[in-house]
Order: sequence, then structure tokens, then C-alpha cells
Amino acid sequence: MAESDVDLFVIGGGSGGVRAARIAAEYGAKVMVAEEYRLGGTCVIRGCVPKKLFVYASRVHGEFQDAAGFGWTVPHASFDWTTLVANKDREIGRLEAAYGATLEKARVRVVKDRAVLADAHTVQLANGQRVRAGYVLIATGATPSYGDPIPGIEHVISSNEAFHLTEFPRRILIQGGGYIAVEFAGIFAGLGAHVTLVYRGENILRGFDDDVRAHLRVEMEARGIRVLTGCKVVAVEKTSGHLLVHLSSGNQIPADRVMFAVGRQPNIAKMGLEKAGIEIAGSGGIAVDEYSRTTRHNIYAVGDVTNRINLTPVAIREGHAFADTVFGGKPTVVDHTNVPTAVFSEPEVGTVGLTEAQARAGLVQTDIYKAMFKPLKATLSGRDTCVLMKLVVDGLSDRVVGCHVVGEGAAEIAQVAAVAVNMGAKKADFDATIALHPTAAEELVTMRKKTATYARAAAE
Ligand SMILES: Cc1cc2nc3c(=O)[nH]c(=O)nc-3n(C[C@H](O)[C@H](O)[C@H](O)COP(=O)(O)OP(=O)(O)OC[C@H]3O[C@@H](n4cnc5c(N)ncnc54)[C@H](O)[C@@H]3O)c2cc1C
Repeated sequence: MAESDVDLFVIGGGSGGVRAARIAAEYGAKVMVAEEYRLGGTCVIRGCVPKKLFVYASRVHGEFQDAAGFGWTVPHASFDWTTLVANKDREIGRLEAAYGATLEKARVRVVKDRAVLADAHTVQLANGQRVRAGYVLIATGATPSYGDPIPGIEHVISSNEAFHLTEFPRRILIQGGGYIAVEFAGIFAGLGAHVTLVYRGENILRGFDDDVRAHLRVEMEARGIRVLTGCKVVAVEKTSGHLLVHLSSGNQIPADRVMFAVGRQPNIAKMGLEKAGIEIAGSGGIAVDEYSRTTRHNIYAVGDVTNRINLTPVAIREGHAFADTVFGGKPTVVDHTNVPTAVFSEPEVGTVGLTEAQARAGLVQTDIYKAMFKPLKATLSGRDTCVLMKLVVDGLSDRVVGCHVVGEGAAEIAQVAAVAVNMGAKKADFDATIALHPTAAEELVTMRKKTATYARAAAE
């Protein structure tokens, strides 16, 4: 193939890469994108979108269970996994095509191939073509990791395979305590599987507010998910008909499937980074400055491959900011504070800002406002569940620095609360806002009494 020259070569057609390519092209740059798997990347193909579709499917079960209290008689409901997977695949295919069409419309050339760096200005495609580029953007994302090698690891799947199982697992053991492990535990449990969640730490969702972690665990257990903490999988044995999982606690658990969601590693291997003088940060991601520029002046990196905040909207914002900076003449720094995040567990978690522990470690005075209540819907459905709402407030300035919700609609609530937190709203502003009744979120503007107040210890 002939050599071609482009202003920008983007390696990776996921959330960050596609946004950067489109915006750079709209600024007039000649852009080429290489994608080795499917356009859309993790979020569209095997992350946020298919996961949320599975979450919707799993929640239908709860609606059936809740129906009787509202006067409904639901005849015996049955679930067909193959239909769900096929319908999900159809939607993912549609989205993938839409991504391709967007790039085509922006006159971005897409190559369906693996690309690596040959030097700082040359990209080498697996098909043998070499492309000279003024700028290179590395947006290669991340891949599931499996942790330390253990006997029988070949029987373990990751979230990638969970989206394509040909048979629904009646019993599944999931190892991991992060949001992906917790979400898949909820998905499989909702769809009718017996789920065991194994996590080596003391509680799930490390890094989230401690009240959220404790509350969600209780709720998950109430929905029949067995949560085993303080232990880990040491071996997976294939026996006739199923897998036998050996835990460090000595327990042996039979399962049809074993899934690990123990972390993700940035896609930096065999990328030729050393040939361009690109350094890796302590986090394991590509080291970048606040403009997402690597240690090589014409090479940038955005999204999960930089291992900053690994969420789709962050990758998109970083990709957009890169294009504005380099091709739009508008140097743009992405603010990584107050990024709202959700866990699409059952019930859902929505959160923005500081946890109580972070606030108490950094602020002179931290005020906590907390409410736990039975949601209105549960009064008739009879479901044994509670909503948790929590505001973390800077006691000196009265600013709301954190908002944490566990319950139905928590993610939607957190997205809107994030606007207020980001604008520096004070607790008095929340109090001055009239409630929207009857909602769960109204609790956020009606919590008048402090639950606790903490002064930072003088020695700290
Ligand atoms: C199960 C799961 C659920 C998730 N849920 C959410 C959620 O609910 N909300 C949220 O905000 N985030 C979620 N995420 C995270 C989100 O998917 C990522 O943060 C986001 O996709 C990162 O975008 P990116 O552009 O950095 O990388 P990606 O979207 O991963 O794109 C990278 C692309 O680069 C390609 N590639 C890699 N190496 C090469 C190469 N050498 N040559 C060519 N192509 C290459 C890959 O095939 C991939 O398509 C989830 C992730 C997972 C795994």
C-alpha cells in the first residue's frame, strides 16, 4: 500500500478516539483512525451500553415480584437469555454502524486494523502500511486483567465474554469488588442465577463512601446475592458438568461459570511506545500532562489508556479537549473534579464529589446529613428495601462537597446533583429549593438536621 500523510492519526476507535477524530476533522484536519476490533470501543461494544441493556432486563424480574401489591397477577414469567443477547447484539450493531457513519460524514478515514508506533511520526498498521502523521493520539483503552495466575484460570471469563455466553449460567461466581463485578452480580441475580460475589478486601466498592458500601451490601444480600469478603479464588477446577471454585477460606463453591472483574489494564503492550520516547506513569497508564500530551510533544493520549478516571464521558471530554487544543486553537484543560459516577447495581448507586472519609481528611470541619427511608413504592410492593441519601458539607463554607444516593433512580439524581455540586452550591441553596413531591430526591432538599459534624484533628 502507498504511504499516506495525515495531520492526525488516532489509534483506537472508542469513546475518546472517535470524538477527537471527528472534532479535529471538523477543524479541517486530515484524520485517519485505526480500530482493531469494532468501532465504538468498550463503551458501545462491551461496556456501558450492553451492560445497561442487561441491567434493564434484570430489573424486569423485580417489577414482576413487586406487582402483586399493586393488584397485578403476573402469570408464570419465563426468561430467554438467547433472545436478550440477540436483541442486544442487534442494537450494538446499529450503534457501531452509526459511529462509522459519523466518522464518514466528518471525512475521517477509518482503517479496520491494529496500529502501533514505528517512531514518533510513523504509525505501522498490521497490514504493512506505514502512515506518516503530524500528530498521533493514542486512545487504545484498557483490557480486563485476571490478577495473579491461578490453576484453572483458563476456565475463567471476563466481562468481555459475559456479553456473549451461549448458555445462561444457573450458578455464577464473580470475583471482584468494583463496579463491574457488583453490576454483573445484580444482572445475573436479577435474571435468575444463583450468584456468589467474592472479594478479597473487607467490603465491596472500595473508594466509594463507606455508608454507600455498607448499605449496598445489605441490599444485595437481601436480594439473594451471596457476598463473601476477605477471601479470594485460589483455583478453579473443571469437574464433570460444572466448575468447582476453591477459595482461600477453604470453601469450595460449585458454579456453571466463573467471572473475574478484578481490574483493567491500559492497552500499552507492544504499542511501540518506547520507540517514540513515551513514558508510563506510576498508575500504569501513559503519562500525560493536563492537556493529555505525552512525554513526546506531538503524541497525545486520552481515555482509559491514561488510567486517570476511567469513564466514557471523561474519555470523550479528554478527546474533545485534545482536538480543541491542537487543531482548534483553544487550549483546553479537562477538570477531573466532581465527575459524577454510578453503579448500576440493584439498587442503584449515584454519587458525586467527596466521600465522607475524603472530606474529613481534607476539610477543617465536615458536616454530614444523612437519611435512610423506605421508598413509597415499597409500602405497597412489600419489598424490604431502604433508600440512602447523604450530603457531605464543608462546615466552614457551607458548600455541598459530596452527594451520595443508593436507591431507584440514583444515577439520574446524581447527574443533576452534580450540576449543583460543580457550581459550588451551598447547603443553604439546597434548603432554599422547594421539594418536588412525592419523590425520593426531595429528601436532598429537606434534610435539615445534621447527622454528625467532625473537626479535623489538630495533628493532621
Ligand atoms: C463492563 C464495563 C462496563 C462499563 N460501564 C460504564 C458505565 O456505565 N459508564 C461509564 O462511563 N463507563 C463505563 N465503562 C468504562 C468505559 O467503557 C470506558 O471508560 C471507555 O470506553 C473508555 O474509552 P476509551 O476511548 O479510552 O477506550 P475504549 O472505548 O476502550 O476504546 C479503545 C479502542 O481501541 C482499540 N484498540 C486498542 N488497541 C488498538 C491498536 N493497537 N490498534 C487499533 N485499535 C486498538 C480497541 O479495540 C477499542 O475499540 C465500562 C467498562 C466496562 C468494561
